[in-house]
Amino acid sequence: MDIKEYIDRDPALREVSQMKETVWINPRLLSVDRTAADLQKVVSDGDIADAEARLGRFAPFIALRFPETRADGGLIESPLEDIPLMQKALEETCGCRIPGRLMMKMDSHLAIAGSVKARGGIYEVLKHAEDLAVAAGKLDVNESYTRLAGPDMREFFGQYTMQVGSTGNLGMSIGIMSAALGFKVKVHMSADAKRWKKDLLRSKGVEVIEYDDDYSRAVAEGRKNSDLDPRSYFVDDEKSVDLFLGYAVAAGRLKGQLEEKGIKVDADHPLIVYIPAGVGGAPGGVSYGLKRIFGDDVHCFFTEPVRCPSVLLGVATQLFEKANVHDFGISGKTEADGLACASPSGFVTRMMTNLLSGEFTVDDWRLYDYLRLLDKTEGKRVEPSSCAAFIGPCSLLEAEASGKYCSIHGLSEKRLADSTQIVWMTGGLLVPEKIWEEYLSRHLSQS
Ligand SMILES: *Cc1c(COP(=O)(O)O)cnc(C)c1O
Repeated sequence: MDIKEYIDRDPALREVSQMKETVWINPRLLSVDRTAADLQKVVSDGDIADAEARLGRFAPFIALRFPETRADGGLIESPLEDIPLMQKALEETCGCRIPGRLMMKMDSHLAIAGSVKARGGIYEVLKHAEDLAVAAGKLDVNESYTRLAGPDMREFFGQYTMQVGSTGNLGMSIGIMSAALGFKVKVHMSADAKRWKKDLLRSKGVEVIEYDDDYSRAVAEGRKNSDLDPRSYFVDDEKSVDLFLGYAVAAGRLKGQLEEKGIKVDADHPLIVYIPAGVGGAPGGVSYGLKRIFGDDVHCFFTEPVRCPSVLLGVATQLFEKANVHDFGISGKTEADGLACASPSGFVTRMMTNLLSGEFTVDDWRLYDYLRLLDKTEGKRVEPSSCAAFIGPCSLLEAEASGKYCSIHGLSEKRLADSTQIVWMTGGLLVPEKIWEEYLSRHLSQS
């Protein structure tokens, strides 16, 4: 591949290839009206509603098996919270202006898996379990799913294996829910995956297979291993539509939370969302759902480490899954372990091509500064990958490219002052105390 050619076409990619913090604005962004008909053929509103209904059917089972979800009736959902102290502290430490109401969506604290993967990952496991049980005549979609906790059903699921490749958190969501249903589980972990995540999974009876290589390799090996076994199902983060649907359900839930708080979203009250991206599935699914509901009034930005901006490259070059950070001379090695995917999802980069507003890339050292600042100001702890989101609101008005985006898209001073900006926190709940101590004291040099 001739990188120079891509850089000539899109000069922002030069900075990206030099691993500099960059704001990339998507030149292919279109008004939702112009893309909806085509995209609806791939993922329809009905598909998202169907996923939501399926999660509803499983809620009694989840409430039974995971008592921490009982207060929400077995629905796995996270709070949406104002972070005014963090907003002020960011403005002071970064010397930036953050207009509007800054909020955090705390998927970092989702029950069961402690990360955004509790949406997509768990959904795909449940979907597969339902498909198997219904096909075998062991479950009727109209009966109570608490029956799935019975020993006969565990034995039934025990004949099947679930497999997944993961940098850590996806493996945790698939592993924990699969094990709860009685499936055998194999999680193929990349070298980036943290020790404590592997230990936690093993403690739940999950088989963890470690690779001394990156995420793409762990996925490829997992897929190959699974294909050899007709009773094995592979959760394929690089192409899965079911994962995407599980994430997309978040949008309707967020709409309810915004309404509950009396927060308007319309042309005069825009919604701006910043979500950290790894392979693209989580931010893609959530953003797609948001675009379906809020249309052009929501602006979806992804954030990625300067050392692993694979989704940015996939969309910007239109190479999709063939884009690889190494081809651009980028290391792919980042402290944001949840975002260390050298190549993006082909499915998501295609779906988001005309919906993504742009991307902000962030230096690793900032992640720990954000982590400490959020802990200090709001008393909330989120893992380094989550912290990548904060580069968005800090840069929106400061960088030339995003400033221009605002003026082109009608984000005037007045409208920004009336906007809601959401940083989507993606992981943190299950991080052990000892690891927090490490994170909170970690200072990287600003190279
Ligand atoms: C997985 C993950 C993401 C990004 O999700 P992708 O589907 O890989 O894009 C972000 N943050 C954390 C903490 C994650 O675990």
